[in-house]
Amino acid sequence: MPENGDLRELRRLFHRNPEPGWCEFWTTAKIVEEIERIGVDEIHVGPDAIDSEQRLGVPDEQELSSWMERAKDELDDHAVLDEVAGGNTGVVAVIDNGEGPCVGLRVDIDALPIDESTDSDHAPAAEGFRSTNDGFMHACGHDAHITFGLGALEELSNRDFSGTFKVFFQPSEELLGGGKAMANTEHVADLDRLMGVHVGLGRQTGAVVAGLDEALALSRFDIAFEGESAHAGLAPNDGQNAVQALVTAADNMYSIPRHEDGVTRVNVGEIRSENAANVIADSATAKAEVRGGSTQLMEYMKEAVYERLEHAAGMHGCELDVTVIGESIRQDCDEEMVDVVYETAVEIDAVTSPSRRDALGASEDATYLMKAVAESGGKATYIGIGASNPSGHHTPTFDIDEDCLPIGVSVLSRTALSLLN
Ligand SMILES: [Zn+2]
Repeated sequence: MPENGDLRELRRLFHRNPEPGWCEFWTTAKIVEEIERIGVDEIHVGPDAIDSEQRLGVPDEQELSSWMERAKDELDDHAVLDEVAGGNTGVVAVIDNGEGPCVGLRVDIDALPIDESTDSDHAPAAEGFRSTNDGFMHACGHDAHITFGLGALEELSNRDFSGTFKVFFQPSEELLGGGKAMANTEHVADLDRLMGVHVGLGRQTGAVVAGLDEALALSRFDIAFEGESAHAGLAPNDGQNAVQALVTAADNMYSIPRHEDGVTRVNVGEIRSENAANVIADSATAKAEVRGGSTQLMEYMKEAVYERLEHAAGMHGCELDVTVIGESIRQDCDEEMVDVVYETAVEIDAVTSPSRRDALGASEDATYLMKAVAESGGKATYIGIGASNPSGHHTPTFDIDEDCLPIGVSVLSRTALSLLN
């Protein structure tokens, strides 16, 4: 197993510097620095690692440039930063040992807009590696995922094997914005096998699940109605009421029939209109999402929602604009890959409770990469690595037991080697 201390330092380095989706500028540059230290055959960065056109939920210029400025202040070498400008983050690292299978590992690298706890019971605060980016935090363990990716690269770089090993450092998973962009590249097209991975999820250190799936497919979108303003007392008939269009649509989104094929969800979150009580509102916006037990069920909900939005806009004489800001599909784990991971995990002493399959629960956009691999005849799985997380994911006190780091690296690198040999 790799040195725990080195992996811990690496994880803490990334924990200290969380960046949100498409703003992982410092993170991308640091990952490249580490990969160069390890030494691989190819490094693809930013626009060469993702399909820029397929990115969803890219923040506005102002937000991108404030994160870029911060990264420039932190780093002396700006070569990588220049490549990832405009929110083209992410890296693909390749060890090419010639003839043989092509095996990939996908990890995600982004953080969340959460203010990290300063509580003395919270290890990152007590031990001095709390987030230095106020209001942002690695509260889902993607700092550990980056460490897994780098650790596995280091392991494989020291081994003999025939074939190719690739690690995909994917941006913007939390926004479900990067999976599609990374899946739609030549780097994924030639994969025979793929592993995705998540740390924690309520499982104790020593637990390994070889196949986590049954995630709900999800589509998240911003809605904007544009009408015409008028005096609410003097001439309400002159207006086209955007608030009415929005509430009509929101109400009717919950009227979509259930589906015989499985579970569906719909939710309208934030609703806004910056208008006084005596003004017929000329604009109204909302954030909403739909989910489905399959990709088809998610699409069914999405279509039905769009239909209601369009009709509500028509009823109230408004223009409608819908922007998809995040999306994930459902793709379950391949049974043969589950076998390989499970057989590998049971051989590792520190893996005290290996299991074959369980439900993931959350949505994940690694599914785009898994589907791309399956469609070209390959096989993929999504692995759970227990980490005794003391509090739930996406909370200010989220942390992991760092003993999970060498376990994760061992499971992933040994599985890769068994697929390559
Ligand atoms: Zn996560």
